[in-house]
Amino acid sequence: MKRTLLLGGLITLGGLSMTVAAYQQGAAGPKVVEVEKLRDNLFMLKGGGGNTAVFVGSNGITVVDTKNPGWGQPILDKIKELSNKPVTRIINTHTHGDHVSGNVEFPATVDVVVQENTASNMKRMAPVTGLSQPGGPPAQNIFDQNKGRGLPKKTFKDKMTLDSGPDQIDLYYFGRGHTNGDAWVVFPALRVLHAGDIFSGKVAPLLDANNGGSGVEIGNSLTKAADTIKNIDTVITGHATTTMTMADLREYAQFNKEFLEFVRAGLQGGKTVDALAAEYKVPAKYSGYQAAEARVKSNVQVIANELKK
Ligand SMILES: [Zn+2]
Repeated sequence: MKRTLLLGGLITLGGLSMTVAAYQQGAAGPKVVEVEKLRDNLFMLKGGGGNTAVFVGSNGITVVDTKNPGWGQPILDKIKELSNKPVTRIINTHTHGDHVSGNVEFPATVDVVVQENTASNMKRMAPVTGLSQPGGPPAQNIFDQNKGRGLPKKTFKDKMTLDSGPDQIDLYYFGRGHTNGDAWVVFPALRVLHAGDIFSGKVAPLLDANNGGSGVEIGNSLTKAADTIKNIDTVITGHATTTMTMADLREYAQFNKEFLEFVRAGLQGGKTVDALAAEYKVPAKYSGYQAAEARVKSNVQVIANELKK
């Protein structure tokens, strides 16, 4: 039973809306990867954890994020239906198990690229703030279990460009948010951005303080991304099943900044974390946003801890 609960926890890292479906897929049943074609050579693979992007370049395929444990091979099988080119590179947007665990099922020759803080986080695979279960079993480190296979081979700090021309991929880091290593992955020729879980969808973010996440910084990091990355028509989020736009990203930055100010003002007014969590309502202008009380409470606590420092 504990094992089932742990899996459920892994799977619900990013999006609240997909909790039940993802839980059922993860707990048993066939591992179904659903493909959405975004461009002739770019696909979004849904199911089994975070959204995966498959970018078919001239000489090989880049995969962004590899889902929950056991989903690496289903991703590889699905890619074979899309292209006969080899997978040469994985980019992980951040350290969470529902985005990196499939790495261990890819050939050991595949390059793995991440932001440098994520490389450190992937060595530890620390429990996730807001999801770790007091008294539960310690988190399993899937990379230790696989003798380090799938760990990063190449890192960047603030920006790195891979390949050129139609194959170009730009990687950015704009500061802390969901974790302290959230990579932004841009395919400039296709005008597509994969934002990972720093923008997981229209949902209260998971602020994973254990892995460097920050409720004080997330709004600024999102704004910096929206201001810096140009010429994007399509945004893949960490977990939403439909793609979004840069206008959605800008709105999400504002949503997070307003949440920070709600917490800051409430704490200054002498309110407790529990009272603020109970009081919070998503402002009406953010229609369709979800903010479960447990997530909100965890985020209020993370921000309160940060403001105390
Ligand atoms: Zn995540």
